[in-house]
Amino acid sequence: MAGFRSLARQVRDPGCDVALRRYSLRKCLERFAPYGHRATWDHLCRRHGFGHEDRDLDPARLVAALDEVEEARAVWLAYERRFAERRRREKYLGLRTPGPIDDWHRRTWGGNGVARCVDPAVHPDLPLGDALRRLIAALEAGPGEHCPVCGGDRFAWRWNGLDEACGPVCRDCGVLVPALVLSEEALAAARRRAARADAVRELAAVG
Ligand SMILES: [Zn+2]
Repeated sequence: MAGFRSLARQVRDPGCDVALRRYSLRKCLERFAPYGHRATWDHLCRRHGFGHEDRDLDPARLVAALDEVEEARAVWLAYERRFAERRRREKYLGLRTPGPIDDWHRRTWGGNGVARCVDPAVHPDLPLGDALRRLIAALEAGPGEHCPVCGGDRFAWRWNGLDEACGPVCRDCGVLVPALVLSEEALAAARRRAARADAVRELAAVG
């Protein structure tokens, strides 16, 4: 299986057919797609002005989209290196036992889907690297009341789907926010709101 960097080389290769270069960019997103594969693709299409199925597009747009993905990947991998070093030091000093943040990192190592958008058409407008910088700042600051990406404070609660796709979803930017960056109060409020919405739906179904 080709790695991210060899796929990125194909995207930039002027000797390759444009359709292949576009295909290679999509394959890059199987390795690294902060909003999840489909939402990240939708984000790149909108920001760089090409269509989902556009096979005859200006290759410069593909390269600009790749630049954005690579910049975001560098931001995330640098954060992971810092995180791993800090954990190693703390372990060496006997300062801590693994907790929820370690579990979350194990599941998201490499950065794929770290700011997953469950609806592929609803995602932040920000460049990917900026969204990740904001998420990282929140992970380092500890639990808060707001969406780390857009600052919104209204969350829906997603119950079903895959395990990693359950939790608080920002109603403004669509990101499934890692529960560990939200305070207990914010999580409880999101769950209460979701339970109320379920009750209203059940009443409507009965009535
Ligand atoms: Zn948000």
